[in-house]
Amino acid sequence: MTINNALYKALEDVLGPENISRDPVIKGTNSQFKTSPEFAAIVLPKDTKEVQAIVRLCNRYQTPYKATSTHWLMYGDPGSPQTIKIDLRRMNKILEINEKNMYAVVEPYVIAAELQAEVMKRGLLCNITGAGANCSALPLAAHANLGQLSISCSWGERNQLGFEWVTPDGEIVRSGALESLDEWFCGDGPGPSLRGIIRGDQTPLGGLGVYTKAAQKLYHWPGPPAFVNEGVSPHYVSQMPANFLLGYYHFPSVQLQENAVMKVGESEIGFILMGYNISMVLANMATSNIEERELARKWGPQVQGPGFIIALAGNSAGDFEYKKLVLEKIVEENQGKLLPLFADPQVAASSLYRYIRPTSSIRECFRYSGGPGSGGMAGGAISNSSDAYPLMNKFVQTLVPVKADYINKGYVVSQSPYPPVAQLMEHGHGGHCELLIQGINSSSEEARTEIDKFKQITLKTLVEGHFGTGYAAGDEAHNFFGPYTSNYHIWMRKIKTTFDPNAAADGNTYISAKG
Ligand SMILES: Cc1cc2nc3c(=O)[nH]c(=O)nc-3n(C[C@H](O)[C@H](O)[C@H](O)COP(=O)(O)OP(=O)(O)OC[C@H]3O[C@@H](n4cnc5c(N)ncnc54)[C@H](O)[C@@H]3O)c2cc1C
Repeated sequence: MTINNALYKALEDVLGPENISRDPVIKGTNSQFKTSPEFAAIVLPKDTKEVQAIVRLCNRYQTPYKATSTHWLMYGDPGSPQTIKIDLRRMNKILEINEKNMYAVVEPYVIAAELQAEVMKRGLLCNITGAGANCSALPLAAHANLGQLSISCSWGERNQLGFEWVTPDGEIVRSGALESLDEWFCGDGPGPSLRGIIRGDQTPLGGLGVYTKAAQKLYHWPGPPAFVNEGVSPHYVSQMPANFLLGYYHFPSVQLQENAVMKVGESEIGFILMGYNISMVLANMATSNIEERELARKWGPQVQGPGFIIALAGNSAGDFEYKKLVLEKIVEENQGKLLPLFADPQVAASSLYRYIRPTSSIRECFRYSGGPGSGGMAGGAISNSSDAYPLMNKFVQTLVPVKADYINKGYVVSQSPYPPVAQLMEHGHGGHCELLIQGINSSSEEARTEIDKFKQITLKTLVEGHFGTGYAAGDEAHNFFGPYTSNYHIWMRKIKTTFDPNAAADGNTYISAKG
């Protein structure tokens, strides 16, 4: 689709000819999914004023736009071939690290690895989306902003502080303390808060304007100012920092594993806790498919049931000893076992590095030895509720027999029918589980067809079992979940039409006015 020439010229005048393109080669490389349309043009603003000018021009010419940060997943893809991509890569500065009040302010193209490295030097840590440290550190770019560190560093909705927002029709809004005091420490008020408009548990995924700066809460980091790694990626060898531990513990039953998880939460000892199944853990370690198969052959059969990766971080030698003793007791009481692979200090140390600066997500999710296949996915997150984990766990466990059946029939190549992700957030104040079917046997047409049906099974299970909603993006998902959930989709649509009267922000992964 070609862009209106007058609009192109007006955008070029704002940005300069080097910061706009409609070259088919450039457009062709900017959508992630083969089935997505191409953008009509790509624009590269340098600051908030330029973003505002682009948004206003798009409103005037009735042309949709979509902003992206690092565009790691298909949520950044356009909903129509008229859409203009606002690629925020030139807005790449860490604006403030406030050590005293423990927050950081970033522009959208600061990646999480950069922010983490900077705050670590100051004895601080930021939460990172499990998608990887290559993603944006802007808390409003990620879907939910849940990650490996969320047991101790919370997640996006809770870490979100002040933000600057170019609304869908081109107003600049500074929220909370930023508006009244020119400070970032609070995202709410004055008066009714706009924070709930721009995000809940998940973000509007490009469908409600552009976030140009945002602050997030930081946490205490008891480790060294930098990781000590030797070798060349992906064969880094790391050193275990003092007062840290990482291991994979597995349990004979789902119930015993859940008991152990809940006890880890209650005792607040966890620095990282990810209820990964063994396939996911081994995929995280392997640097090739061959290595992954070898690891799976050796270690897969040694696992007695569901498990978790856990890391402890002591603030002192005494604190570390205490946390270690508590963990040992929890594991013993629930008949858990340490996978001997993690008794090797180098395996433990290098894994710690890969979970703290998440680097392996793409391998865990998409490169299991069955081929680059990953399919039906069901997820849910419930915040601020101590029964969230058991509820989410029950939901995914009801689907375990379906996955086991796929493994038996050879549709899925996996070492484990258990969910790959079952995690606590904020030491048990929230929980999240996903049943991702990784390792699809991509050479089987039948496998594809059968696994496509899995999505329908998970949706039905979610609503009929009253487990809440899964992560939703786009009209179809919201229209499905809304009627079961106080008709929230009607309210979301009202927000969309009120803030975006010209439907200028491409809502293909949020919600549209008409539905
Ligand atoms: C392998 C894999 C694993 C994942 N695991 C997790 C996980 O553990 N936890 C989790 O929360 N998510 C996960 N995700 C989803 C994940 O949140 C997103 O893929 C990731 O956060 C994208 O980050 P990004 O910085 O590249 O944002 P982008 O891809 O650039 O944007 C993501 C969405 O936000 C919008 N957006 C981005 N920046 C802005 C902005 N400045 N203003 C307005 N809208 C904007 C985009 O339009 C898009 O809809 C995973 C994805 C993948 C591919």
